Amino acid sequence: MADRLGEPLAKPIFDELAIIGVGLIGSSIARAARRRQAARRIVLADASVAVLERAKALSLGDAVTDDPARAVAEADCVILCVPVGAYEGIARAMAPALKPGAIVSDVGSVKGAVVTTLAPLVPKEARLVPAHPVAGTEYSGPDAGFATLFMNRWCILTPPEGTDAEAVGHVRAFWEALGAHVETMNPAHHDLVLAITSHVPHLIAYNLVGAAADLEEVTQSEVMKFSAGGFRDATRIAASDPTMWRDVFLNNRDAVLEMLGRFNEDLTALQRMIRRGDGDGLHALFTRTRAIRMGIVALGQDTAAPDFGRHAAETDEPVR
Ligand code: NAP
Repeated sequence: MADRLGEPLAKPIFDELAIIGVGLIGSSIARAARRRQAARRIVLADASVAVLERAKALSLGDAVTDDPARAVAEADCVILCVPVGAYEGIARAMAPALKPGAIVSDVGSVKGAVVTTLAPLVPKEARLVPAHPVAGTEYSGPDAGFATLFMNRWCILTPPEGTDAEAVGHVRAFWEALGAHVETMNPAHHDLVLAITSHVPHLIAYNLVGAAADLEEVTQSEVMKFSAGGFRDATRIAASDPTMWRDVFLNNRDAVLEMLGRFNEDLTALQRMIRRGDGDGLHALFTRTRAIRMGIVALGQDTAAPDFGRHAAETDEPVR
């Protein structure tokens, strides 16, 4: 099968890349970077011995360690791929070991809090270029990653004002080598956009599953048995990692609360239409939303296949 990620680069973008956190995202970066030879050497760090053993067995990098300071000592780029709540401890541990000029980046799903946490801890000689690949699945850990995860997905960079343009250029080139499209935003705008496109949908999925689990009149086995009626498709993401999502909501509180307020107003309007039997209003809204949903497929961010193309994507490309 043709390698859809493309040929190895003529010259690596980074000499040594350190990835801290070898879960879904970290291991996918390692796989894609190795395949495209976007870094000459890859060092992997994780707090979990079991994860490091798995990373070794899967040959995800050239070296593994549980010590963030050892991992970054020779790196010209470090990417934090751990839940956002773990950033401060890792930044404190690795900061004294960073090489002058090293790029410090990340993949965290929130950006304002990440910049606030990392900026004071990263030494002045290092260059902070936060990033968020808008790609993922509901699975976690090194076995869940795959090299094509970022292909045709967006990666948003949120460099603080005044960040060295060369460092931003290297991070952009790296993500493009992994198949992503890259856009730059300020952190606050990123957090508002992601609140409505990712964070609130996850909260709704968690809430829908929670509400179904609490029902007394409908048994849980009935919920599962008849889930193809919509529950299954609306709640896939409710299986996502609890630690990661706890940290997202704790670190993007204002934007999420703002978007939830708007969502609740719109839900109340829908409730009123149903109560009043306003069929025209419901039909008009559903027509508009259908066009938006079809637009997502047209933009290549999903497919119209009944299983959202996910089964096809998995069988198409080896997961490891
Ligand atoms: P994951 O699969 O759970 O992997 C995270 C890894 O980090 C785990 O191996 C974890 O070890 C390790 N870890 C946790 N705390 C650590 C610490 N203090 N020091 C070293 N390693 C530590 O998570 P993920 O889905 O890859 O998410 C990682 C980051 O990517 C998060 O910041 C998330 O916001 C962002 N992100 C996720 C997605 C997504 O869809 N999942 C998409 C875009 C961005 P243990 O398992 O032992 O805790």
